[in-house]
Amino acid sequence: MEIKFERFHLQSDLLSPLQGFEPVSVPTEVRIDPLTRRRSRIITWGLPIGDKLDLTKMAEESEGCIFCPGNIFLKTPRFPKEIIPEERIRIGKAVGFPNLNPVGTYGIVVVLCQEHFVPLHQCTPEHYVEGLSVSLEIIRRVMAFDPDARYWQISQNYLLPGGSTILHPHLQLIGDPIPTNEMEYLLNGSVSYHQRNKTLYWNDLIEIEKGIEIRYITRIGKVHWFVSYAPIGFNEVCATVEGHGSFTTLGKEERLALATGIVSTLKYYDKKNLNSFNFSIYSISGEASYQLLIRIISRTPIQSYYLNDWTSFEALHSELTSNIAPEELCHEIRPFFP
Ligand SMILES: [Zn+2]
Repeated sequence: MEIKFERFHLQSDLLSPLQGFEPVSVPTEVRIDPLTRRRSRIITWGLPIGDKLDLTKMAEESEGCIFCPGNIFLKTPRFPKEIIPEERIRIGKAVGFPNLNPVGTYGIVVVLCQEHFVPLHQCTPEHYVEGLSVSLEIIRRVMAFDPDARYWQISQNYLLPGGSTILHPHLQLIGDPIPTNEMEYLLNGSVSYHQRNKTLYWNDLIEIEKGIEIRYITRIGKVHWFVSYAPIGFNEVCATVEGHGSFTTLGKEERLALATGIVSTLKYYDKKNLNSFNFSIYSISGEASYQLLIRIISRTPIQSYYLNDWTSFEALHSELTSNIAPEELCHEIRPFFP
């Protein structure tokens, strides 16, 4: 195994007005991701988070959106019959249909439930099991129609800071014959690791993380939940699914395990007064060196005076930051998992 956890310690000295202009030294840690070699900065001072904002008014004002029960089957697009004869896919309360504003070959929306607004602490594994089951069925059908569409992202943008224009909980799926940048980083790293070591990076990583314990959260069936060594976002929680590179091969057990971990993470975010997040499942078919990954990150919450967490550092230097040490996050979030 050649997985290395490299880091640099940076130190900034100043005379602090907060401590009578005495000398203080503020550390920053730069970590190198063992797979992608990308740098992340762990900053020890977090962005300020205010009190929990009451979102009731925002929910009431936008009630009756196109995803709400009276509108969804009248106002959302339908699939062409040659791809999905039923035109929309419905499992339980979740409904999937084409995205009116796609950003790729196959853009799909999966509405998770009939409720217009579900606060984080009320999200349930059932919401996600049904949403992921609809996603799986749609991706299988699309790939039967177009096998070249083998790169899929199954994502959620929750609330305005997460980039969602519609409050009603929904997933975004995008399928393409070409990978995103991030998929390419993951895939290139996985393939070259496999060529050098003849083992799967993801299995080796999990074995190491389980051994050192400080970033491994838990195992739910075949799904291993952990905090990444070099996060690319705030409060980043990840999972990899043993034996699967593509979302399309997941069984019911794996979908439930993913749903359970997502909801556990959201309960932790809620406890920290966070209310917005993104997640993405990176699904790649036909690549034996790759293993399915999900990343969940929090965004700075909606507050009276919103503060964006994407600064010149992230946007223009591709240098990603985390506001909490991964090991501390792992310690804090473990009790929220089953
Ligand atoms: Zn709605």
